[in-house]
Amino acid sequence: MYLYVITLVIFILLGLITGSFLNVLIYRLENKKRKTLFGRSFCPSCGQQIAWYDNIPIISWLVLGGKCRKCGKQISSQYPLVELATGFLFAAIGLKFLFLGALHIGIDSGQARMTAPDILNLLFWLFFTAGLIVIFVYDFKHQIIPNEIIYTLLAAGLVFVGVDTLFFGGYQYLIDHLLSGLLAGGFFYALAAVSKGKWMGGGDIKLVAFMGLVLGWQGLLAALYFSFVLGAVFGLSALVAHKKALSSRIPFGPFLVAGTFVGLFFGEQMVSFYVRMFL
Ligand SMILES: [Zn+2]
Repeated sequence: MYLYVITLVIFILLGLITGSFLNVLIYRLENKKRKTLFGRSFCPSCGQQIAWYDNIPIISWLVLGGKCRKCGKQISSQYPLVELATGFLFAAIGLKFLFLGALHIGIDSGQARMTAPDILNLLFWLFFTAGLIVIFVYDFKHQIIPNEIIYTLLAAGLVFVGVDTLFFGGYQYLIDHLLSGLLAGGFFYALAAVSKGKWMGGGDIKLVAFMGLVLGWQGLLAALYFSFVLGAVFGLSALVAHKKALSSRIPFGPFLVAGTFVGLFFGEQMVSFYVRMFL
């Protein structure tokens, strides 16, 4: 029990700190031309360097009422929200990999295990999570997925699949994951071609290929199912609320990112539930 709590606290803290770094990374991606100071955080409005006691994840934002101490300008709620989301997801991933059994589809879960490959997978998924959060925020704000991030994820995803093929899966694992990535990418490429880029963009194609690669077919199906349902719900409610034309672009990346985590955490259960229902 203590071990659970300690693990939770460690991963939440690690996530809060990482989230704070991800905010800086997002700012850098948004302001590529501006040479920014490395390391230290500063106010996006007045450029004032932020003292360490004003830079504590979430707490500082709350204490300062979401305003800069020097210029009093509002600081976006993106900052605490990204920190909170990273803390929450890091904790969930820490628990999943260290306590709730192995990641892999096909391997029995439910046993506590902590082998070297599990820890390696944990590190891979923390890295993927950080990248996915950046994609979520950036696509939400700017309707584009930064190539720097998605190519890094694709490269790391290939290394991840290679490592897991050696440690766990063998051929079947390798073929499942490579084929899932290729088919998902191909399917989205077709959607983009048919709609002339209106439904899906190039970034979505790369993202979904990454999802197939790291999730395998079961996780991918659950992820896509959830993404499309969520996307439809949001699309329809936006339509009703703003009477927007159907063609107005709602970025799909955030739904895909949310779906990836659904696929990771619930993919196996979702697929076996449907198999039991209908077969
Ligand atoms: Zn300021």
